[in-house]
Amino acid sequence: MTDFREAVIDLGAVQANVEHLRRLIGTRHTMAVVKANGYGHGAVPVARAALAGGADWLGVADIDEALALRAAGIDAPLLAWLHGPDPDFAAAIAADVDLGLSSALQVRQAADAATRLGRTANVQVKLETGLNRNGVDEADWPEVLALAAAFERVGRLRVRGLFSHLANTSPVDDQAAVESFERGLAAAAAAGLTVELAHLASTAAALRLPAARYSMVRLGIGIYGQSPFADADSAALGLTAAMTLRGRVAAVRTVPAGAGVSYDYLWRAAADTTLALVPLGYADGVPRQADNARVAINGVPYPVVGRIAMDQFLVDVGTAPVAVGDEVVLFGDAATGAPTAAEWGAAAGTINYDIVTRVGARVPRRYLPAAAPAGPGGNGGTAAP
Ligand SMILES: *Cc1c(COP(=O)(O)O)cnc(C)c1O
Repeated sequence: MTDFREAVIDLGAVQANVEHLRRLIGTRHTMAVVKANGYGHGAVPVARAALAGGADWLGVADIDEALALRAAGIDAPLLAWLHGPDPDFAAAIAADVDLGLSSALQVRQAADAATRLGRTANVQVKLETGLNRNGVDEADWPEVLALAAAFERVGRLRVRGLFSHLANTSPVDDQAAVESFERGLAAAAAAGLTVELAHLASTAAALRLPAARYSMVRLGIGIYGQSPFADADSAALGLTAAMTLRGRVAAVRTVPAGAGVSYDYLWRAAADTTLALVPLGYADGVPRQADNARVAINGVPYPVVGRIAMDQFLVDVGTAPVAVGDEVVLFGDAATGAPTAAEWGAAAGTINYDIVTRVGARVPRRYLPAAAPAGPGGNGGTAAP
């Protein structure tokens, strides 16, 4: 059975989510963030669908992720911002990937790689504004921005952008980061840089902190149709969840009252009941600790019972007439009656981001094509790997 376990990815939903977010946010540029294999959805098909929806930039963490998009024939502007100690900047520059740079050393490494290639590297400087991950510390802005400007004057670098990332901790903290970023923009101008792109907001701030929008927003979770907020679900934001994790019932058995279920007998049947076996487990990204989650079988929600194992878990369907082969949806679009990734996140002590991104390599992705675009620019529907 080919759909024994699968993640169905609705590329039309990705495209529509991007279109909807662009209408709401209205920045000149929109980056679709497709790191981590497109949050588990598949970076290449999601990138194509997002571009069809009007995104004009793509963002990834690593250079390897960027090169994989280029190898698939995606030539849209692309930024990679997280590098190891020995980054292959030359490969990125040769592939026209913008480098997000977080230190004087990285600025020098990018300029060196560009010199070796006889090219100009497009770079965007990442400023530290309160998250305390990577990014140039405020104390080092004058030095690093002056260094980048010097390399720009000799044609080794083009400093296309300045960016940072928010902690999404509180309005007060985010406002402090916006003010810090403003100081960074001023410092760049003082160093003689004229940047085309200034970007600070990911999905949450893009939606709720207009002051953080600048010339581009970096949209990750929202394009996948998931909400970044605890107080608003996908529907409240006008978004449609793009991923449905589903499978088919692999076995059905009735057990008597008192029967222990799965490893360690975490759960025992209170009365005679019917159990349905679902062939997905923690190897597939189903969180082992989510043993109070729900799944929908034939559209009806039932509780997960007992320990979630590596390959499988059990569902208590009571007296319902469930049969081998019946459809099981772990999570998907709430409008279809499915539980959501956010509900699984709550059951597992984590968030929707984690639930969709962790879906394992053993789960085949099946793509529902986006509608054919009006003009040139690629159709996500042709993108299934
Ligand atoms: C992952 C990431 C994003 C996207 O964040 P969402 O909350 O998913 O929209 C944006 N910018 C950076 C730097 C990131 O690492």
